[in-house]
Amino acid sequence: MKNIVLFGKPGSGKGTQASLIEKKYNYIHISTGDVFRNNINQKTQLGLEAKKFIDSGDLVPDNLTIKMLEDKVENYKTPSGFIFDGFPRTKSQARALDEFLHTKKTKISLVIELFVDDKILIKRLIERGKSSGRTDDQNELKILNRLDNYNDKTFPLVEYYKKQKKFFSVNGESSVEDTFKKLCNIVDKF
Ligand code: ADP
Repeated sequence: MKNIVLFGKPGSGKGTQASLIEKKYNYIHISTGDVFRNNINQKTQLGLEAKKFIDSGDLVPDNLTIKMLEDKVENYKTPSGFIFDGFPRTKSQARALDEFLHTKKTKISLVIELFVDDKILIKRLIERGKSSGRTDDQNELKILNRLDNYNDKTFPLVEYYKKQKKFFSVNGESSVEDTFKKLCNIVDKF
């Protein structure tokens, strides 16, 4: 079983690449952002609690996020692997994921960062906001808040996974196809 974390700032292309990996390798793609948005659309209790954080570009609290992720993983009985897109984003999420996977007798195999310059990210997110309907993409201050949250809370995970010798980085500024080729080279070698 291979479990991959796709890592990177908002707008770095994690969702797009995770979908391509899911198709090619037949792993289960779990996007925490998508799960939250589905819950918001369906007006579940979790959706109601998460909405105010997401709308302002803040992270949803760890306890809600970790529980949601674990419930989601539990749905799949014999997967060949998972691609985690947007999780973990804090050290306590990363530790919780390691412990949880350990109870399932599996682990994170590799973490791949999609690296994209902030100026390009901001352009991409504003562009995405015009068609996605995502309120967190339509306001530059919210986008900057998400980037700040990434720098404060998520960036420390680079060191966490480097220590475990699982961290790889690819440049995510080229075309979707080029980036995907680079990702596949890493996944195939591992
Ligand atoms: P992006 O990568 O562009 O920020 P996502 O769809 O991954 O988009 O996430 C959207 C929002 O969902 C985040 O800004 C955050 O509020 C919430 N979210 C997603 N994943 C997590 C997580 N692991 N921990 C806390 N909040 C999360």
